Amino acid sequence: MTGLSAGSLLRVDTGGVAVAAFTARVGGAATGPYAGFNLGRQGDDPAAVFANRRALADAVGADPARAMMLTQVHGAEVRDVTGADVPRPRGLATFDGWPVADGLATSLPGVALIVLAADCLPVLAWRRDGKAVAAAHAGWRGLVAGVLEAAVARLGDPADVGVALGPRIGPCCYPVSDDVRAAFAGRFGADVVRGDAVDLAASARVALVAAGVPSEAIAEYGGCTACTPGRFFSHRASGGVTGRQAGLVMAVTGREATVPAAGAGAVCDHFRGRRPRRRDPDGSLP
Ligand SMILES: [Zn+2]
Repeated sequence: MTGLSAGSLLRVDTGGVAVAAFTARVGGAATGPYAGFNLGRQGDDPAAVFANRRALADAVGADPARAMMLTQVHGAEVRDVTGADVPRPRGLATFDGWPVADGLATSLPGVALIVLAADCLPVLAWRRDGKAVAAAHAGWRGLVAGVLEAAVARLGDPADVGVALGPRIGPCCYPVSDDVRAAFAGRFGADVVRGDAVDLAASARVALVAAGVPSEAIAEYGGCTACTPGRFFSHRASGGVTGRQAGLVMAVTGREATVPAAGAGAVCDHFRGRRPRRRDPDGSLP
């Protein structure tokens, strides 16, 4: 059995035009350092990962053969998903053959777009008429490279786009090198630099608003991954061996978009005298 619980999914309010959710590590079939609802490859047992992916698809009413994932590379490329991409014979039960990119966009209803992260920021977006959706994986490199602007550009008028920012490492737990802070200050303004850290979600907001998305159309879910390692996978908090949570968005037509009951979003505990070792001085994250 899948063992998903109410806390396994964070439901995103799209106003009913799309199915959208972020996952937590709560529940699921994986064990050891990947324990819980791991959806990524890493070193985990593939059978456990594939069971979790199936459970995710089932939980949101998605067809695994029509769901799309990525081989994520911290870039700004967004792949358009068309009818030629689906169905896929092995569905979600494979680590191979996914497009090499950091974003997905589609106007096909019933095609779930899935991105993975464990400190990086998963981002989901939808047109308010429900006719197109996009998902992006945004680490610091992708943010600076413009992956969010590229994703939103696939959805038409940005004034009619809604966006959800998922669980990610917060500025409470994300010290980075001088070069990365300088890149963020130059790209998103000095306000996104917090001491020796940068704020991924605040930077995403700056990028999205500059791209034309109304500030009030951007919502945040899940809080800081490193502050709540029991609730979310965190690359930094784990020392680098951990699983991956997901963001999923799917256009729907002809029926109301619903996601089963989800727990409330975790609240960042902020830095409490515990700061993960600076083992990635360039700020690298999964
Ligand atoms: Zn934190």
